[in-house]
Amino acid sequence: MSKQNNHDIMTDCVFCKIIRGDIPTDMHYVSDRVVAFSDINPIAPVHILIIPVTHIASMNDITDDDAETIAELFFVAKKIAKEHGIAESGYKLLIRTGRDGGQEVPHVHLHIIGGAPLAEGICPCKSDDVE
Ligand code: 5GP
Ligand code: ZN
Repeated sequence: MSKQNNHDIMTDCVFCKIIRGDIPTDMHYVSDRVVAFSDINPIAPVHILIIPVTHIASMNDITDDDAETIAELFFVAKKIAKEHGIAESGYKLLIRTGRDGGQEVPHVHLHIIGGAPLAEGICPCKSDDVE
């Protein structure tokens, strides 16, 4: 149910709506496989989401057929970093997955976040939860 075999999921998915042009969005990159657009709620001066055009719910759902698409996500991140002047100052790339990963939108997306020094912020919510 993770790929383009579920019409309802794609109809409801906010990122599929952006790809279709149903939601006007500030695009930074468009190809047959990947698009990149500004996050609606940026947490840093540069906060852009890079996503596959194909609806893939999470990293758990990628397959060998998606290899070039997943690679393109990262090459687009490199390109965007350069274009936004943060390649040298640095940035973070983030793909949240599932409940514990804090994924809110069930369509794979690579965050590129930069333009300011970034806090670490990846520790477990409670350190004594770790076994
Ligand atoms: P997640 O928590 O799933 O890793 O990240 C989802 C991201 O999508 C959030 O940073 C959120 O601000 C962004 N987002 C959610 N809805 C929209 C939208 O309609 N447009 C855009 N541009 N970003 C969105
Ligand atoms: Zn989608």
